[in-house]
Amino acid sequence: MKITIIGTGYVGLVTGACLAELGNNVFCLDVDQKKIDILNSGGIPIHEPGLADVVTRNRAAGRLTFSTDVAASVAHGDIQFIAVGTPPDEDGSADLQYVLAAARNIGRHMDGFKVVVDKSTVPVGTADKVRAAILEELQAREAGVTFSVVSNPEFLKEGAAVEDFMRPDRIVIGCDDTPEGQQAHALMKKLYAPFNRNHERTFWMDVRSAEFTKYAANAMLATRISFMNELANLADKVGADIEAVRHGIGSDPRIGYSFLYAGCGYGGSCFPKDVQALERTARDYGQDLLILRAVEEVNHHQKHVLGQKIVERFGENLTGRHFAVWGLAFKPNTDDMREASSRVLLRQLLERGASVAVHDPVAMAEARRVLALDFADASHMLERIRFSDSPMDALRGADALAIVTEWKAFRSPDFDQVKSLLKAPVIFDGRNLFEPDVIGAAGFEYHGIGRSVLT
Ligand code: NAD
Repeated sequence: MKITIIGTGYVGLVTGACLAELGNNVFCLDVDQKKIDILNSGGIPIHEPGLADVVTRNRAAGRLTFSTDVAASVAHGDIQFIAVGTPPDEDGSADLQYVLAAARNIGRHMDGFKVVVDKSTVPVGTADKVRAAILEELQAREAGVTFSVVSNPEFLKEGAAVEDFMRPDRIVIGCDDTPEGQQAHALMKKLYAPFNRNHERTFWMDVRSAEFTKYAANAMLATRISFMNELANLADKVGADIEAVRHGIGSDPRIGYSFLYAGCGYGGSCFPKDVQALERTARDYGQDLLILRAVEEVNHHQKHVLGQKIVERFGENLTGRHFAVWGLAFKPNTDDMREASSRVLLRQLLERGASVAVHDPVAMAEARRVLALDFADASHMLERIRFSDSPMDALRGADALAIVTEWKAFRSPDFDQVKSLLKAPVIFDGRNLFEPDVIGAAGFEYHGIGRSVLT
């Protein structure tokens, strides 16, 4: 099938590469010339395990093309996926300017039936806006072609995106019941047929329910995290171990173990903005989503907890203190720093006069870029960040180690070496990587999240 993907970011690139892997002929469009140049010269602009192989293989096979040519992209695909960013607007709502720009481009150039698929995460009702934008362009040039707008939200996780796309838990597709909608249904069914060979994974529904499902899923996951984080803070006060509590409740199949880890807050490009956007949608309809307001507030607080623990231990004034920070990406296996908790911790430490040495297995280049922006008007703070090539190098002479991202590489370090490099054996573990009794026995002073057990 001939497919166009508009937006070649985390979602668009993975979607395009994986659909090409299934034998489709895929044209990927982006407005970012630099990104397209990297892709056309054989590079990959993001870190995503397994992606480079799929892209290289399918480019070589002639099934995957990258371009900035809008007219050619519209001409190519019978199905046009919109996978551009939907960042939060100032009022928390999803900024639809990129989605609507993509829609207008389609309307401006299409000369035959197209299925336009909203793959970006967009608020309920966006398909109507996309339809209106395309219609306006068609009417302006008196073009009598038909189309259908479909919602097909993406559930892949950064860091496991290729695997998630190729083996999805579910595929959600919302079509309307017009004749064009039925035509779109048939094409989408054909496109996703390879994923449904063993058992049907597609949930067919109306367009608005499909749009809503994506927000409901992310809001639920964010709620589980904030719930555990709030209980972890209480566990610290009452002297209980949140990890023991997690096992105790997760064993109930109605609760389950997934997404119950306490830590120093969630980040990334999805949970924070999607929770906000759903709240905003609710407000537009005169409803206040009380639970989600609390989820967001708890998360904002939680991103400060690691820094607060450091301040409780070393005092408000951290001038002359030096800390090692392991992990900068918002989660492991990605270089994505959007809304990462590390950025909050670094600000807390630097504002109090400390210096830091930071290390992340893959996000170093992105960290340099993002932190330069974060501290653009505070170069005196930026100067106090040392970018270390290895986790061990970051430890040299530090008053303590703070862990922000749960990279596998941080789970079993050589503790004797860690101790010898640190000025004092103190660890602030924002992801509960270690067992307090084991690390205590190894001679460390250990501060986890919700693990201050009274024995
Ligand atoms: P991203 O910022 O990585 O990529 C977006 C790309 O779109 C950029 O390369 C940008 O240059 C391009 N673009 C913008 N306007 C364009 C236009 N008019 N024409 C062509 N290209 C254009 O974003 P992302 O992380 O891939 O997210 C895309 C959407 O998918 C968002 O709505 C996001 O919420 C959703 N989503 C993201 C994830 C994730 O893990 N990143 C998961 C599920 C859903």
